[in-house]
Amino acid sequence: MTIKKIGVVGAGTMGTGIAQVAASSGFEVILNDVGEDYLQRSLKIIDKSLTKLSEKGKIEEDKEKILSRIKTTTSLPDLKEVDFALEAVFEDFEVKKKILLELDKLLAPSVILTSNTSSISITRLGALTGRPSQFMGMHFMNPVPLMALVELIRGMATSQETFDEVKTLAEKLGKVPVEANDFPGFISNRILIPMINEAVYALMEGVGSAEAIDTVLKLGMNHPMGPLALADLIGLDVCLDIMEVLHEGFKDPKYRPCPLLRKMVDAGYLGRKAGKGFYDYEK
Ligand code: NAD
Repeated sequence: MTIKKIGVVGAGTMGTGIAQVAASSGFEVILNDVGEDYLQRSLKIIDKSLTKLSEKGKIEEDKEKILSRIKTTTSLPDLKEVDFALEAVFEDFEVKKKILLELDKLLAPSVILTSNTSSISITRLGALTGRPSQFMGMHFMNPVPLMALVELIRGMATSQETFDEVKTLAEKLGKVPVEANDFPGFISNRILIPMINEAVYALMEGVGSAEAIDTVLKLGMNHPMGPLALADLIGLDVCLDIMEVLHEGFKDPKYRPCPLLRKMVDAGYLGRKAGKGFYDYEK
């Protein structure tokens, strides 16, 4: 089937970026969230981002034309016309379950349903629906308009047709799809978050200062950002949650969250969004 209209549920950081990229790639988008204020904030962010990209000559099409392809709604049933759907709501199994069950009921039987989850099992989410063969993970990176990668994750029941269709869609969105198997953290977070956790251990044990640890990774390994600065950007609570998922999922002590990471989260030092993490930020 030809995908023309994409439904995105959740207009937060990721849903906003995905809606922008889909509209910029010529798709009609219906963006859903629980409140009008979330949707208006999302449209403002997209407007600002398109203005910047346009000034840099990175998009040729008129900004208003791209924006006109995005419709917003607080009513999930308005998504019944879409021919592809992606959920990007909170990383909470119960919240996702409710949305997936509702979407499954209202979407046409042929429609592919996807999740942008960072850590919940795709097989488990797909099994909630009546269409597990047409369900899979589509894990975009933040910020979506700037990051080329999308991880594609099949659940146990995902069909080859579904996978091929989603891969083609990812390419039409200008992304580079990489297949990852359905294991906790997929590829990206399985490697990135334990590296950050190890950097926090190095800090806790006094191997080096935060600046020293970040400088070693930047200048010694050519990473664009040090792991502690990156943790501040991602949010220390998000990093801790993902470590817990890896620890719980593999039951392997090598994934134990660093006590300093837990302590910082307990203190409310969550990184950039809190004005304080491993570094201080102006709020
Ligand atoms: P976010 O908190 O910024 O946004 C979530 C949005 O979902 C909010 O606007 C919220 O109002 C909305 N929402 C909650 N319940 C809803 C419902 N019942 N109906 C409609 N909307 C609802 O979260 P985010 O960072 O955009 O993350 C979304 C998903 O993407 C999560 O599964 C997360 O793990 C994943 N993810 C996040 C990142 C990241 O860096 N932030 C990267 C990759 C994947």
